[in-house]
Amino acid sequence: MDVFEGIILKHLDYKETSQIIYVYTEKGMQSFLIRGANQLKSPFLGTKDTLSYVRIYASGKSLKTVKEMNIIEYFKGIKESLDKYTYVLHILELVEHFSDGGLDHPKSYPFLIKILRKVESEMEYVPYINMFEAKLLFLLGVNPRFHECVICKDTHDLSFSIKDGGMTCHDHTQSKPNFSEKCVKLFEFLYYYDLAKPSSIETELKTIVELRKLLDSYYLYHLNIKTKSRTVLEGLIGY
Ligand SMILES: [Zn+2]
Repeated sequence: MDVFEGIILKHLDYKETSQIIYVYTEKGMQSFLIRGANQLKSPFLGTKDTLSYVRIYASGKSLKTVKEMNIIEYFKGIKESLDKYTYVLHILELVEHFSDGGLDHPKSYPFLIKILRKVESEMEYVPYINMFEAKLLFLLGVNPRFHECVICKDTHDLSFSIKDGGMTCHDHTQSKPNFSEKCVKLFEFLYYYDLAKPSSIETELKTIVELRKLLDSYYLYHLNIKTKSRTVLEGLIGY
């Protein structure tokens, strides 16, 4: 029997009564079969929810079958808030999408767990979602460059350009700047934020809304992704 720990990203029904769960572990995404998962007497009914952080005992060669599963953290505070939960589903979808390519799992896996704990405990949790998205750009190798013009390295009169993946100077800015200085500063602050040395994060709704647009555009332009949860979230929060 093998032991695994990870975050359940999603499940799919399999045959009549079984399910396959997709779990993000320190080695990447791993799928497991839960026999009889949809039956009322299944011992896994309370543990197999999306987002649960679980320890799994499983056996089998290619598709492993779950024998026993325990909750490490349930993240009740996230699951009970529709907005929070939808934001989190958005980042779980990103993890799932990129888990096969580019992600450095020993870094992204513990980071995801830290972010989930922050989202669970903080009232102002949205910056932590944005922090995950910002740092994920680094882990995926499409990190924005903040300190100089990406074309000529000039450090004066800079504005953020989605297309160029960072700051451009007056001479190399092709269109009117789309994002306020406050928004770009917040993006940069979250990108470099060290969770081990926490400092206060000051935000206002206007800047959060703007940063949401910036991140959406950046992911769409550089990684060609808009998650389903992002669309659902738009319906919930209105932007
Ligand atoms: Zn320039």
